[in-house]
Amino acid sequence: MNEKKLPFTAEQLEAIIAEYPTPFHIYDEEGIVENMTRFLEAFSWNQGFKQYFAVKATPNPYIMRILQNLGIGADCSSLAELLLCEKVGITGHDIMFTSNDTPYEEFKKALELGAIINLDDITHIEYIEKHHGSLPDTFCVRYNPGSLKEGGNTIIGLPEEAKYGMTRDQVLESFKILKDKGVTHFGLHTMVVSNELDVAGLVGTAEICFDLAVEIKEKLGIEVEFIDLGGGVGVAYKPEQTPVDFELLSKGVKDAYDRILVANGLNNVALAYECGRMVTGPFGYLVSTAIHKKDIYRQYIGLDSCMANLMRPALYGSYHHITVVGKENAPKDHVYDVTGSLCENNDKFAIQRELPKIDMGDRIVIHDAGAHGHAMGFNYNGKLRSAELLLHKDGSVTQIRRAETYDDLFGTLDFSNL
Ligand SMILES: *Cc1c(COP(=O)(O)O)cnc(C)c1O
Repeated sequence: MNEKKLPFTAEQLEAIIAEYPTPFHIYDEEGIVENMTRFLEAFSWNQGFKQYFAVKATPNPYIMRILQNLGIGADCSSLAELLLCEKVGITGHDIMFTSNDTPYEEFKKALELGAIINLDDITHIEYIEKHHGSLPDTFCVRYNPGSLKEGGNTIIGLPEEAKYGMTRDQVLESFKILKDKGVTHFGLHTMVVSNELDVAGLVGTAEICFDLAVEIKEKLGIEVEFIDLGGGVGVAYKPEQTPVDFELLSKGVKDAYDRILVANGLNNVALAYECGRMVTGPFGYLVSTAIHKKDIYRQYIGLDSCMANLMRPALYGSYHHITVVGKENAPKDHVYDVTGSLCENNDKFAIQRELPKIDMGDRIVIHDAGAHGHAMGFNYNGKLRSAELLLHKDGSVTQIRRAETYDDLFGTLDFSNL
């Protein structure tokens, strides 16, 4: 169970809206810091433990700065994310560059910043060497374990159908080639689950990687210095779900660490995670206003936001909890489809959801929108992306991204040639 509470009162929210009209995304700084502090604490037994924030979840420099202040690095998958790191001052091995199908200009920037390159494919060794002329002294290699007994989960799918990473043989071959080419520091990475709430599933990822690290030591005499367990720690989007217990996860990983790595003479392997979703997801809220009520074959509540602000429900059928502000304790005696304004029938935040009676002007807060929310925004139907706000511990609010304007939207058009 998890209680879907708001980090602000109705009065506070009205004061914020008076300054920043709806819709907007708002992030709870205290919640983010408290959650990450617990996560880092849980893994403090592991010397060199590092969390890299998967920037794609919430690519905002102010969010990255909050995390940087906690000693958290950045997991980047694109040039834009690397450029954000540069702006924030995240450099060197505080960046894990886990990309795929990567153009050289992106490798170039990553190398320029001193990032750790997490190799997605064996052919990229030659690709980087050819374009760059040399290789850095540190590499991480991404493993795709292929068919698993238990299979993957819904978002990432079956590993053998996933485009990421290399086969076991290719991983071994890559280490051999890299070593021959003078690379001296090695890491191993895998990510086979996404949005996973089951600790056993997450520990399974660790076991897969630990086993391979032992095989690499035995076959090649290479001791990996770090093992990156990817992201995939889930968010309890539904009230009846239970968030991942970091202590329990850490204990499961430590048991596997001792049983597999330490037992085989790998005593000093630093662990890493590249979590994104669970870092910001539960601490972001999409705040909207109910502007229309429509009664046809179903009852519809139309908001001033749409799937351009949060597309997870439309894209994955994801559940996002909804709070009607001020009606938290009212009976949920109405059933609504809660919609946006796009000319797409999947533009619905909730389908046949039991909610309190909604009146026009009610503030509608959509929970757990802090990851892949604003970040997945788009401009179809000419919808403008909203502002992003940061709620501080003392209740004050900073605008960390303004809302788009029509000048932004039409900025790539040259009307003078019409
Ligand atoms: C998306 C992604 C992550 C982050 O995953 P979460 O589910 O957000 O924790 C980490 N690493 C890679 C390579 C990714 O693609």
